[in-house]
Amino acid sequence: MANDYYGLLGVARNATEAEIKSAYRKLAMKHHPDRNPGSKESEETFKKIGAAYEVLSDVKKRKLYDQYGEAAVNAGASGGFGGVPPGFEGFGGADVNEAFGDLFENFFGAASGRGGRRRAAGADLKYETDISLEDAFTGSQLPLKFPRVESCATCGGSGAKPGTHLKRCAQCRGSGRIQLSQGFFSMAQACPRCRGEGQVVEDPCKDCRGQGRVRREADLKIKIPPGIYDGATLRISGEGEAGPHGAGAGDLYVHIKVKADPRFERREDDLTAVTGIDVATAALGGSVDVPTIDGESVRVKIPSGAQAGATFRVREKGMPRLHGRGRGDLLVQVRVDVPRELTARQRELLEELRKSFDPDGAAKGDGGVFGRIFGKE
Ligand SMILES: [Zn+2]
Ligand SMILES: [Zn+2]
Repeated sequence: MANDYYGLLGVARNATEAEIKSAYRKLAMKHHPDRNPGSKESEETFKKIGAAYEVLSDVKKRKLYDQYGEAAVNAGASGGFGGVPPGFEGFGGADVNEAFGDLFENFFGAASGRGGRRRAAGADLKYETDISLEDAFTGSQLPLKFPRVESCATCGGSGAKPGTHLKRCAQCRGSGRIQLSQGFFSMAQACPRCRGEGQVVEDPCKDCRGQGRVRREADLKIKIPPGIYDGATLRISGEGEAGPHGAGAGDLYVHIKVKADPRFERREDDLTAVTGIDVATAALGGSVDVPTIDGESVRVKIPSGAQAGATFRVREKGMPRLHGRGRGDLLVQVRVDVPRELTARQRELLEELRKSFDPDGAAKGDGGVFGRIFGKE
């Protein structure tokens, strides 16, 4: 499902900015919808290369993409390219010239000028949400509820009362544009009466008062890709606000915050867990069971003479790799737990141990029971 942005533009992974721009320019001209009217395939390709260029032309995004893949810069519920890259909403109108003037002015200036009937899409929405590290691990379905302006179901977004129709705008005669002439100059402008739509509501729908849109609570399930990292933004195309009078919806951007986990610390795809072992295990070696992010525990072998802070690597027990296959590792860091309380027997054994390490130990320690009684230091 993943799109190879470099492949889409036909450039090498180490391509320079100029190479990327030049490759995009060639492809964009070839696949521009104004040059391929009615071709769904061209439109799709045009969107894809636009998305690829949007990322690869941006140093920051390109770095993220190189490191984490498409999901880091452009993951959506659909997993594909539902959206239109910024600046291309409704091919035609002024958008194309404004955003990509340097690329299209000469080639498409004339073509894009005659639009006028194209409608603006709805606004994009931003949403921030916290997920647990487990959710980031499994890649959950995240329920999202939030107020949103949606297309009115009663009138289908037209704003016209059911059973009635939109009427052609009298002022612009349905073109959505009016010509302003002054001397030699003639300028086209969006019609003020119909706001460039060419049609007006005569008999407004009661539910939306002719607006075509109503405020409702959206109830969505967002697919979180396994391995998503803190700070990632998912784009879910078409889940933003509905556009006016039946125009397409904007996109929904979900900013993901992965909550800190008390058991694991994450560094890229690796997880670190601190586990306590007793002094005897540290000295003699042994094994310890360590919980993992997938809920099961792994047995980690501790070699004799393990020092506090020593780290042992358990392969493939970290986070799933967002970009590529497999999982990161689990790093088990050892903490040596010095007992705070001892049974009489343990004390006896430790005293004996101390004597074996240092036969003249009485000089250093408190000398045990006799040392304490006689105040010997
Ligand atoms: Zn309505
Ligand atoms: Zn009009």
